[in-house]
Amino acid sequence: MTERDGADRCPGVLRPFIADDGAIIRVRVPGGRMSVATLAALSAVAAEFGAPLLQLTSRGNIQLRALPDPLPSTLVDKIAALGLLPSPTHERVRNILAAPLAPHLAPLVAELDAALVAAPDLSALPGRFLWAISDATGAVLTQPWDVAYQDLGDDHGRVLVGGYALDVSRADAVPTLLERARLFLAHRGGERAWNVRDLPADSPVFAGMTPYAVSAAPPLRPGPVGADLVVGVPLGMLRTAQVAALASASDEVVVTPWRSVVVPGGAYLAPMLRGLGLAVDPDSPWARVSACVGAPFCRRTTTRTLDLATAATKSLAGPGPLVHVVGCDRRCGEPSTEHVSVVEPSSVDQVLAAAGVSA
Ligand code: SF4
Repeated sequence: MTERDGADRCPGVLRPFIADDGAIIRVRVPGGRMSVATLAALSAVAAEFGAPLLQLTSRGNIQLRALPDPLPSTLVDKIAALGLLPSPTHERVRNILAAPLAPHLAPLVAELDAALVAAPDLSALPGRFLWAISDATGAVLTQPWDVAYQDLGDDHGRVLVGGYALDVSRADAVPTLLERARLFLAHRGGERAWNVRDLPADSPVFAGMTPYAVSAAPPLRPGPVGADLVVGVPLGMLRTAQVAALASASDEVVVTPWRSVVVPGGAYLAPMLRGLGLAVDPDSPWARVSACVGAPFCRRTTTRTLDLATAATKSLAGPGPLVHVVGCDRRCGEPSTEHVSVVEPSSVDQVLAAAGVSA
């Protein structure tokens, strides 16, 4: 934390980040659940103004890239018209993950989002502050959340902050989450603290809570889960034609923090989506590799990470460690679960060696 020079610089719709391929904007989708019509409309905006793809991030957000700098006001207007910019002041703090296979949590996500946006003081939260709404299985608790609520049924659950827990009723969940976020703001000691894990163990943010070891469910792998389908998106880049196919077959998707989307009731769509290059099998090589954008999109490297990761998939079918290919030691997009990072590889053989595959 001490190496940071100030506030986080996470992009939003109103605060683009300028990369070598143009401006990047990040759209928040609290809980990840959205209509496919909205996803398709967002994809059309991406294709109209920049790269014809939607980039899924490790925090369950969606990025549009290769956009003009400065951003045309019509682009921002179109995103706002889709309902994806409900609060200019709070857009970067609406980072809410939710268990993707638990639709009963959607009202709680909506309640948290509405309360967050209605609280002027909470617009000061860092763009990296992460909220999580989980179910009894511990879904999404693998991610680097700051405050979480784990629903345990029967109108009760536990609020989680760092390694501490507090039992609360369902009705008290959102007020308690907001209270802990306010304690974080009051006691973080400056802009360089972005997350609860940056605070000391005796911080007042944990006051009155009990030490608790969180049990998290592993990330969803591509493939059917009952009638639903987890669709892995290769390297997190969801192409226009793939969105169009989803739009023709489903009303809703859930964006996950694992560069995938869940299609509720979509298990029968697996063959069609496989044909479009999406990952719908647990042993898909795309389930074993991820990458930062690297060159030529990021000026911090000359390593073409996406090309190397793509080439590696030819030899990565089956079980094995997850490999994350990065162009520098910043390790952007690194998975929060077990993986091997390969930094600035000069060849695909280096990527495969990190994955335990001999060339
Ligand atoms: S890890 Fe380095 S090279 Fe890759 S996107 Fe991040 S800053 Fe750029």
